[in-house]
Amino acid sequence: TVRTRFAPSPTGYLHIGGARTALFSWALARHFGGTFVLRIEDTDLERSTPEAVQAILDGMNWLGLQHDEGPFYQMQRMDRYREVLAQMLEKGQAYYCYSSPEEVEAMRERQRAAGEKPRYDGTWRPEEGKTLSPVPADRKPVIRFKNPLDGDVTWNDLVKGPITISNRELDDLVIARPDGTPTYNFCVAIDDWDMEITHVLRGDDHVNNTPRQLNILNALGAKLPLYGHVPMILGPDGQKLSKRRNAVSVMDYADKGYLPEAMLNYLARLGWSHGDDEIFSMEQMCSWFDMTHLSGSASQFNPEKLDWVNNHYIKAADNARLADLIRPNMLAAGAQFDGAPDLAQVIALLKDRTNTLVELADAAMLFYRTPAAEAELLNQHLTDAIKPALAAYVEALRTVEWDKAAISAAMKAVLAAHSLKMPQLAMPMRLLLTGQLQTPSIDAVIALFGRECVLARLTAY
Ligand code: GLU
Repeated sequence: TVRTRFAPSPTGYLHIGGARTALFSWALARHFGGTFVLRIEDTDLERSTPEAVQAILDGMNWLGLQHDEGPFYQMQRMDRYREVLAQMLEKGQAYYCYSSPEEVEAMRERQRAAGEKPRYDGTWRPEEGKTLSPVPADRKPVIRFKNPLDGDVTWNDLVKGPITISNRELDDLVIARPDGTPTYNFCVAIDDWDMEITHVLRGDDHVNNTPRQLNILNALGAKLPLYGHVPMILGPDGQKLSKRRNAVSVMDYADKGYLPEAMLNYLARLGWSHGDDEIFSMEQMCSWFDMTHLSGSASQFNPEKLDWVNNHYIKAADNARLADLIRPNMLAAGAQFDGAPDLAQVIALLKDRTNTLVELADAAMLFYRTPAAEAELLNQHLTDAIKPALAAYVEALRTVEWDKAAISAAMKAVLAAHSLKMPQLAMPMRLLLTGQLQTPSIDAVIALFGRECVLARLTAY
């Protein structure tokens, strides 16, 4: 059975790159009817915060990427790591190293000077027939992993294909610090082992960690997971995504008015494809996502495409749901809903043309604000030549049947009788009704406002 995991470090927020690997791991588990594990890698005490943990949980929750197990916290697994460290020391798979940081640095200097790759020289590595120096007093040792000296580490990366690293390239990794706390690669290996992870999907900034983790897992006799390293997401400018230039937190996109289903659909296509399909549900994605068609090259974040996808999902969304989503922000912006048109109907009129919920809310405000057209602008449009036509139309509106077609027909009759073109009457009416010149079609606006409100506003000048 397939078991995948998402293992974020809680140092900020849920990054869209992280959200994408989470989505891939989740979809893979769903595809095979497996289990998706959430693991919080919080051992970096200086950078991890409870707020960041919450931000990750909020982001995952907003996207609807539900985990089946967890969240597990590495800080709560310290006893387990110590237990494995003790076992490895016992079995001679790891050893205490008493080289001081200064000695290790001096060693590296020598190696660099000799044109060699810096690595631990094995002073404290126990070997058969080797006598170690006496343990220096008052020195707290680190624990090093006894990495194989020869041979290669090879894995068939699910994204990048076969990768081989020579063990000569690898150090005897420090797996516990002088204070006894385990280090990053060690914890990840033990967790993936204990949690019986079968597929590790993660960013390709972790490729260098994989041979180290594989060696540790091999020493423990663990069943090895498969690894897939997805390339990073680049910004629209082709540069690495940066907090300064781009919105990188998933919740930034929530705030900007993207729907979670649009975000998921968009992220899915960054680095994965299914034929020419651009729009698909998560159900479809899960049924298709079998690890084939993951792209090995970096994908580029394209805000216009995200807008296009979001527009699609806004059009498809239930209007009452959209109303619930935008109402709080509209209230905060001073919207008056009493006696005003039904928000779901306003949304139906506006949503085809909006890319985000923020745009939708802004546009909808038109119907929930007391109109205040600039006097000068109004004078410019509501000239003495137009006023008789407006008065005639107001009379017609007192008795017309209140639907869009009848409202429109009555207006055409007035225009014909006064030899006016549509905009000549529509523009001043827009100003009187909404305070703005840009609105949806005037007959639709009139229909939505309702007779009483329209008559009041069209006569208030
Ligand atoms: N905690 C790591 C990160 O946030 C991910 C580790 C992994 O997926 O193996 O970059």
